[in-house]
Amino acid sequence: MNPDITPESGPRILSTTEHQAQLLRKQALLEQFLKIQFPSYNTETHLHLGGALSAHSIGTLAVLHGFNVEGRTHDQKMAFLRANRDDIKDLDSYLSTIYPLREAMQSNPELMYQSVMLTAHEALRYWGTIRQGSGLPRVSAYEMQGIELRFNPIKRTTTIRHGGGNGQRGLFDMDRIVLDAIRGADAAEIYFKDTGLKIGFIFCLGRDLSVEDNGKVVRKIKECRERYPGRIIGLDLAGPESENPLSDPKKLAEMAALYDIAAAPGDPAFKRTVHCGETEAIGIETFLATLNALKPNRVGHPIAAYRASLEGDHRGLEFMAKHGITAEFCFESNLMTKRIPDARYFVSMLSRFDEAGVPWSLNTDGCGTHDRNHAEELFELFQYGLTAEQIVAAMHTANQSSFLPRGEAD
Ligand SMILES: [Zn+2]
Repeated sequence: MNPDITPESGPRILSTTEHQAQLLRKQALLEQFLKIQFPSYNTETHLHLGGALSAHSIGTLAVLHGFNVEGRTHDQKMAFLRANRDDIKDLDSYLSTIYPLREAMQSNPELMYQSVMLTAHEALRYWGTIRQGSGLPRVSAYEMQGIELRFNPIKRTTTIRHGGGNGQRGLFDMDRIVLDAIRGADAAEIYFKDTGLKIGFIFCLGRDLSVEDNGKVVRKIKECRERYPGRIIGLDLAGPESENPLSDPKKLAEMAALYDIAAAPGDPAFKRTVHCGETEAIGIETFLATLNALKPNRVGHPIAAYRASLEGDHRGLEFMAKHGITAEFCFESNLMTKRIPDARYFVSMLSRFDEAGVPWSLNTDGCGTHDRNHAEELFELFQYGLTAEQIVAAMHTANQSSFLPRGEAD
């Protein structure tokens, strides 16, 4: 365990001497962190396009496109475009506040193109760096070249904002939304071709959408896989777990059928993940039933397996280990939505997955929304006891479990 750092949000006010000592410890740990032998190629495997862009970049889109951003001063406008931990009670409030706004600001073809291009730029420029504090330069820890971006194409057509699917048409055409996202990926890979940048898209179904609307996304996947080989790399299920936890066997069967329509299980060029077990809406029985039915290669936020394990029920961890299912973990996101109490709980959870033989990767879910990039999350966890070996293993796991076509990753 690394030396203690008093949590920044702790109730006790530190004296000047204590504060200076804390800064010195943090600086010493940063020097240790930067000596880690990080892989030369790294992949972000769990990131929503709606949360990817920094407030600065999405604020730039707002200026260019004339969006009405709340706030009088520049700082207030930037704060409005970030998630605020104090405003977020849980996953549902997180998904119903900041995300609809950001997704609306990407809901036309040109904005999709610009969002993907800007995301690639920020990935190469910032995601592997750490801010040291005001007046000090960022330090670079590693590079991120593999980007899996996920989004729900139907939610970018404005259909949902016009009363929620169910056969309604959005203002924008879904084919154009997808085309321009891919155009952004093409442009970024050409512009940054010396970096080894690789972008692939995971299409999300929505727990908050009807079977009919999810069916439209699935059909779009089949079309787009033919039209843009190698670009649409996987399928996910996202949205509020409380709305459709899939505890109803009929709804689970419907979802499994949709997954099978998108691609057969085991298709080497199209893989499966699912957000499952992030909240108490999903208990261990539903967690196991969902993994059995949807046959995912990876699972986002499988905290349900850890919660059950703490009570002596290890079936979730054993199932993941037996089937080689990788856990996609996202620290700041879970902290923000109050899914975990603190960093120590998170590090203990990761170690429990290690003991159970379940591979896991570390991702951000929404580095821009959270105003904390990939390297900053890893450094925070390092301060709370995550070891250099665990960090390097997680980065190799991200590369190995990536849905991106095999390239320079290990
Ligand atoms: Zn997510």
